[in-house]
Amino acid sequence: MALVGYDKLIPDLKSMLKILKVLPRNATGQAITSYVTWIKGATECGSSPTDRKNMHIVFLDNGRLDLAKDPVFSEALRCIRCGACANVCPIYSKVGGHKYGHVYIGAIGLILTLFYHGRENDRAIVRNCINCQACRSVCPVDIDLPHLIKKTYRAVLDQEGKTPLKNLLLSKVMKNRRLFHFILRRAYLAQKPLAGKEPMIRHLPNFFGKEHGYRSLPKIAKIPFRDQWMQLRPQVVNPKYNIALFCGCAIDFIYPEQGKALLDILKGHDVQVEFPMDQTCCGLPALMASEEETAKEVAMQNLKAMNSVNCDYILTLCASCGSHLKHNYLKMFKDDPDAPADLKPFTDKIIDFSSFMTNVLNVSSKEFKKTRKKVAYHSPCHLCRGLGVTDEPRKLIETAGYEYVQSKDEDVCCGFGGSYSVDFPEISSEILKKKLDNVEKTDACLLVTDCPGCVLQLRGGLDKRNSKVQVKHIAEAVREELKASDND
Ligand code: SF4
Ligand code: SF4
Repeated sequence: MALVGYDKLIPDLKSMLKILKVLPRNATGQAITSYVTWIKGATECGSSPTDRKNMHIVFLDNGRLDLAKDPVFSEALRCIRCGACANVCPIYSKVGGHKYGHVYIGAIGLILTLFYHGRENDRAIVRNCINCQACRSVCPVDIDLPHLIKKTYRAVLDQEGKTPLKNLLLSKVMKNRRLFHFILRRAYLAQKPLAGKEPMIRHLPNFFGKEHGYRSLPKIAKIPFRDQWMQLRPQVVNPKYNIALFCGCAIDFIYPEQGKALLDILKGHDVQVEFPMDQTCCGLPALMASEEETAKEVAMQNLKAMNSVNCDYILTLCASCGSHLKHNYLKMFKDDPDAPADLKPFTDKIIDFSSFMTNVLNVSSKEFKKTRKKVAYHSPCHLCRGLGVTDEPRKLIETAGYEYVQSKDEDVCCGFGGSYSVDFPEISSEILKKKLDNVEKTDACLLVTDCPGCVLQLRGGLDKRNSKVQVKHIAEAVREELKASDND
């Protein structure tokens, strides 16, 4: 007797042979598995009046047929259960299978549990995703797992019929750019008792709990990037390229020096930079909280702001913003009759800093000092997997005269994930610890990365360790090695 889920049915032998090849290779790196049973019919049995045993195949539905009709979630039925999405998931590797509670584990488990084991069980696990995209990059049948996980959380909230307070506040604040930025400006004043004269906030008030003490936090900048813009704006006659800078909240309000580093580097390259003032948060935090309607509204605001200037590229120093603008904006408006007509040209213009420097400006090593300082690199999830940019930052590090030293698992998540690190500090800190251990095993004196969120996490963790390794955004690191910067 065989009990078979409907999703195991395949059309023909050829498809089956394909799965038999892909499954062991993707699961354990083996060419073939020993777990294959060929059943060609009932087996012989001398004591049976028919000379054969009885054979029964029971097809199990348990929600599968409904799932097959679902325009969004039916994609999950393509899963061949190779388990690779569990193998690579940084969260699953920390919390383990027991936390998942039911049959289906890893990224696909966060989705299927809702359909096969109900809302209550999925509610307990569905937020076990930091959106690192590792599962998607290894899935042999190309299921957009992180996207479906967010949709699953939305489905759970809809079934519950109530919206968490955090989501309500997030939506209200994010839709209103002026309110959002007002709060960030006030945060500068509110942090003063905590920050004192130290460069970072090393001790949080007790109500945060000691599990949040694994990293120091940056201070909100006294003057946001946008308030410095009129003094910083370059004036280039006959520019070769016009770019619109999409700053993201972290650079605008925490690390304006990263934006300034970009402007310094671009001097002498005939690039006119514009900073459209009405740009706001990219909207990724809203999407992560499954507030898609808010994320879409914010996307429309950014689209209008960035399209207000004529530009060849929309450059961002934040990998998470870049990947969200380029890919999620299209996904969110897919099949939406009200999708803006200028969305695709907008997303086509998005470019990250390292790609712009390497592939567009073709920066040369002649511009740099060649100090050969040893530098380790952290590859942000949303750069290497989100935007598919892997070679350019490493090449740029070398071009800038550094010696790039490879650390283990460079492309594994640092544990930041925006609000994930606040909601789940125990998991975030464990992922960070592994990352920093790997960096400290190299003899690098500097760790660079292309995302202000990763800078926050890595710098905060290393500060708590009193480590000698410094952390810089790649734009700051490149700027520091410019020959011209000797005279600054
Ligand atoms: S996106 Fe990353 S954290 Fe989320 S399920 Fe996939 S591998 Fe795990
Ligand atoms: S979702 Fe993809 S990676 Fe995960 S088990 Fe299924 S086929 Fe494998």
